[in-house]
Amino acid sequence: MADTRLVCVRRVPHPIEANLLRGLLEAADLPVALIGEGLAGAYAGAPRFADVKIMVPAWAKSSAEAVLADYDHRCAAQSQEEWRCGSCGEHNDAGFEICWQCGHAPDDNKKKGDAWRSA
Ligand SMILES: [Zn+2]
Repeated sequence: MADTRLVCVRRVPHPIEANLLRGLLEAADLPVALIGEGLAGAYAGAPRFADVKIMVPAWAKSSAEAVLADYDHRCAAQSQEEWRCGSCGEHNDAGFEICWQCGHAPDDNKKKGDAWRSA
């Protein structure tokens, strides 16, 4: 039987990153729930008092951890380079694979990001 208890696979301080990670997990066909997102997002600029917890069913834990490990690996590979979105001009930290503002991929020509381009 599948174990559907929710377990926390990651705590992140920023709801935007939490949503990014949720997108990655969902892209891997893993169900995801964020806990604390509303609290963290409701007060922009206020001192944060709760990290966002990324929860997955226990049966998906190892798969989710693999996705997150891959994400961490790619972040580390990019070092600390920030990039500017070519679509909306927003400045993004290196950890963001797509623009947090508009969802645009950083470099349409080089990345697989073509999927993000609207037809
Ligand atoms: Zn953008």
